[in-house]
Amino acid sequence: AKGEGRNTCRFFDPKMQQHTAQRFALQHEIREAMQQQQFTLFYQPQVDHTGAVIGAEALIRWFHPERGLVSPMEFIPIAEESGLILPLGNWIVEEACHQLVRWSKNPATKAWVVSINVSARQFQQQQFVAKLLSTLQHTGADPRYLRLELTESMLVQNQQDIIAKMDELKNIGITFSLDDFGTGYSSLAYLKRLPISELKIDKSFVNDVLINSNDAAIARMIISLARSMELNVIAEGVETGEQRDWLKAHGCLHYQGYYFGKPVAADELDISDSSAT
Ligand code: C2E
Ligand code: CA
Ligand code: CA
Ligand code: CA
Repeated sequence: AKGEGRNTCRFFDPKMQQHTAQRFALQHEIREAMQQQQFTLFYQPQVDHTGAVIGAEALIRWFHPERGLVSPMEFIPIAEESGLILPLGNWIVEEACHQLVRWSKNPATKAWVVSINVSARQFQQQQFVAKLLSTLQHTGADPRYLRLELTESMLVQNQQDIIAKMDELKNIGITFSLDDFGTGYSSLAYLKRLPISELKIDKSFVNDVLINSNDAAIARMIISLARSMELNVIAEGVETGEQRDWLKAHGCLHYQGYYFGKPVAADELDISDSSAT
């Protein structure tokens, strides 16, 4: 439902007009926030079945001077429709690459893979690959430790173009994870052609995996699909040890969620890792 209503313009609905005015105001604020460096990346640990941290997902945070912490769910869609996701996305990639370099210098963190969320529009821009390559080059980040999270919905159009871009990035060592898997319109035939290395089970299925048999069936299906396609599988939104145990028992060995750690500033993640080992 992320892109819901994007194509429905009701110019004569006063509620909609107000909505539009609000969106313009927010666009303006996003622009200012970039200049004033109000954005920062938080990182949420990803762990394996032994509990060891194997990487982290970068999640953007906006510290608004008046409104406090603004959720990415509120501003990423606006940034996407206004095109601001392009400069913002470039900043996200750059920032994550710098962090990757910092982690690469510490023996305890150097094997961590950093996952970045990439928006449809960001990935579709013609310069995406060239920009990413130049960012890797000038930051010195090792592409083998960079993972891009894409969603199913962004992969349905211009498939040839998308696969070509993915192949180019895969050739230098970048890996891909299919985010929110199971929530979109995935064609299994198409999945087979994508050069991805990981499926990410959406937290909506993980949430009730112990009490809802439909969610459990979907989670089992995704795990067995991943296995038969020789893909890794990671579950997001793991909040309890019982959920982790269920996933582990059914063959999902990588996890992310509040049970292991909330998204935090990069230096807090370093600390929690060294205290755990
Ligand atoms: P997502 O990519 O599906 O990220 C997972 C969301 O689930 C994050 O919300 C994370 O904080 C939250 N989460 C993680 N573990 C748990 C858990 O155990 N329980 C619950 N209830 N939630 C958990 P967040 O950080 O608010 O981000 C929301 C969405 O905003 C992301 O969903 C992603 O679509 C988008 N987003 C966040 N950062 C970025 C970014 O840097 N770039 C782009 N393009 N999108 C981003
Ligand atoms: Ca994600
Ligand atoms: Ca997700
Ligand atoms: Ca999501």
